Amino acid sequence: MTKASFRDELVHVSALQEYVYCPRRYYYQRYQDQIGTTYELVDGRSKHAAQSRRGGWTTERYFRSDSLGLHGKIDLIESDRGTLTPIERKRAESGDYYPSDEVQIAAYCMLLEDAIDEAVNVGYIYLYSTDERHAIHITGKHRSAVQTIIDRIRSMSINSIPSFTNNTNKCNGCSAREYCMPAETAQLEPERARGTGWEDHP
Ligand code: SF4
Repeated sequence: MTKASFRDELVHVSALQEYVYCPRRYYYQRYQDQIGTTYELVDGRSKHAAQSRRGGWTTERYFRSDSLGLHGKIDLIESDRGTLTPIERKRAESGDYYPSDEVQIAAYCMLLEDAIDEAVNVGYIYLYSTDERHAIHITGKHRSAVQTIIDRIRSMSINSIPSFTNNTNKCNGCSAREYCMPAETAQLEPERARGTGWEDHP
């Protein structure tokens, strides 16, 4: 029997978000399992657990789609007169959500519409920090971003490590930094860090 390649495997929605944050960080997580669980993730999980018995909504429903190449668990699904809308809850201490959160909610809309065979063009991101929810209108751009990232993840290989992100702010809070070593690389092999912003660091 031949072993299935990652190309044939479904991509988890959480991987899309990791990849958008930094493909290199996702690489470490996928192939080296060297990223610790962050405080935000632990805290977010406990909040999910605490609120999973709220009434009126469907909670934590798993979906998979072979045609999309995607799977994942939708946090909450709201039903309003037959219209189903996925909701993703975030800590968001900054008071705002990120482009990666939009990609995530777009992926959930796509999974849901694949399951119910109806268009799902809106999802909500709920922020604990502000107690507000934001309607995200899913566009063709969102959909093609989701599909592009799925394709990129499926074509990744252990032999090809993605380059550094060009946003040094992301590196400052990254739990993979001690393995990734952007600053050290910029000092020792400046050509590998060119264009990332790290070459300007002392
Ligand atoms: S330290 Fe920066 S470049 Fe390295 S994995 Fe983290 S975010 Fe990406």
